[in-house]
Amino acid sequence: MAAALVGAGAFVAHAAPATTSIAALRRRFLPGLHGLGRGDHVALTFDDGPDPASTPAFLEALDELGWRATFFMLGSMVRRSPGLAAEVAAAGHELAVHGDVHRSELWRTPAAVRADMTRARGAVGDVAGDEPVWFRPPYGVLCSGGIAASRALGLRPVLWTTWGRDWRASATPRSVAADVEAELAPGATVLLHDSDCTSDPGSWRSALGALPLLAERFAFRGYRVGPLAEHGVNGRSPG
Ligand SMILES: [Zn+2]
Repeated sequence: MAAALVGAGAFVAHAAPATTSIAALRRRFLPGLHGLGRGDHVALTFDDGPDPASTPAFLEALDELGWRATFFMLGSMVRRSPGLAAEVAAAGHELAVHGDVHRSELWRTPAAVRADMTRARGAVGDVAGDEPVWFRPPYGVLCSGGIAASRALGLRPVLWTTWGRDWRASATPRSVAADVEAELAPGATVLLHDSDCTSDPGSWRSALGALPLLAERFAFRGYRVGPLAEHGVNGRSPG
C-alpha cells in the first residue's frame, strides 16, 4: 500500500478535519498505517515529548497502571532532555520518531523531510539503545517524501486509530476518555500527548487525568495495553 502511495504521489492528511466515515474508510483500507493490531490489545502512544514539565508525571502514572507505551519523540526535545528520554526507555517504554521539529511535511521538500527524519532518528536512537522502528509524522500528515524517507531509514509509518483530542484548552480528562472511546475498536492504536509543546499550555493534564478512566474502559472491554512493539501491527485486518 505504501508503494502505491509513493507511485501515486499521494498523501494522507489524517489530521485534517475528517468525517467519521472517511476515517473509517481509511482504517479499512490502510489498517497497518492506522495501527490496527491484535484484537485483544490496545497500543498506547504519546507524541511530542520528552518534556521535563510533564513526561515524568506520565511515567509515574503508567508505572502505577502497569502499562508500557510507545513515545513518539521529537529530536529537538530529546536533545534538550536526553536524560529524561533515556529514563523513558529505561522504564520499559518504546521510543519512536515523531520528527526533529514539529512541522508538517506538506510545506517541506522531500529532501528537507528526509534530513529532519534522519536527525530525529539519530537523536532517538542514541538514547533508546535500540534502533527506532516507528515513525509518526507531525499532524499525521504523511507525504510521498515522508514515505520514501521512512523506507530509506528503515522506519515504519504509523498514525493512529483513535485519539483523545487532548491538545485543546477545553479538553478535560472525561472528554479525552470519551473521545478515545468514540473511535475505539479492537486492536486500536490510541494517540495522546505527554507534552504541550505544540498545543495549549497545560493541556497534557487532561491526557494524564484520562489514564485511570481509560483503564476502566479498556478493562471493561477486555483489552490489554502495551506498546506498538507488542501490538501485532501487520498491515492486515486484525483476525
Ligand atoms: Zn505532534
